[in-house]
Amino acid sequence: MPAVFTDPSTTGYHTPGHPEAPFRVAKSADRLKAAGHRLLAPERPGDDAAILRVHTQRHIDSVRSGDYQDADTPHYTRIDAIARTSLAGALSASARALAGEPAFSLMRPPGHHAARERVAGFCYFNNLAIACSEFADKRVAIVDVDVHHGDGTEDWAFGKENVSFVSLHQAPLYPGTGLQTRGNCRNVPLEPGTGEARYLKALEQAIEGTLSFKPELLAVSAGFDTYKECPLAQLRLEKGTYKRLGRLLAETKLKRFAVLEGGYADDLPLLIENFLDGFFG
Ligand SMILES: [Zn+2]
Repeated sequence: MPAVFTDPSTTGYHTPGHPEAPFRVAKSADRLKAAGHRLLAPERPGDDAAILRVHTQRHIDSVRSGDYQDADTPHYTRIDAIARTSLAGALSASARALAGEPAFSLMRPPGHHAARERVAGFCYFNNLAIACSEFADKRVAIVDVDVHHGDGTEDWAFGKENVSFVSLHQAPLYPGTGLQTRGNCRNVPLEPGTGEARYLKALEQAIEGTLSFKPELLAVSAGFDTYKECPLAQLRLEKGTYKRLGRLLAETKLKRFAVLEGGYADDLPLLIENFLDGFFG
């Protein structure tokens, strides 16, 4: 039975006016529960041993102390503990996936902009990369469907023989990278205004390319900021697009998990529900 990992403590930070707000998890959890999803607390800790597979000790220290400069990604007293809970959700979801159950981590902060020694773009630890790094002996395919390029994840994935990475994202847009494919990291920049038909076609092609890599595990950076009403970007996906998107990923029949990245519109809870309708299959 598919599982959704979440934790109410991840709503425990916010700066007024910042789009990465507590409702993203709180309201989505309520909605998924009402829709009959099984909501579970994380089953794995987000500990130093896991984080150090992707980040440095210096990075861990700076998330704890706030000794870094990034206006988008403020330091909060509790952010170290909360970011570890978010990571714990990703680790729990990947473990479930490998055991044969599709899973979703409904947590914040997101992770895909966090690099080895850098917080960025609302991200502190790279939850997805850390989860994938546990399976160095497995062939892991990462599909990043957030509207922003998954630059932190690509930094980690680049050159790894057992990892394939593909990111579909709007360009031009923050962080400005991901304009070209390099090695095992494929990038699909999409023009502002791209709608469902063009988007799903590009995703189908991306998945096809990913399958030729013969992955044993599919890891999805699930951003919902591709939505037409998202205040931070200009793609034009509809509410119903997310079910189709989830279904395309499910049709791979791969063991799979997804983690929440971006998505800032009021409709986020519905978009996630639609996505899981397809993704859990
Ligand atoms: Zn994003």
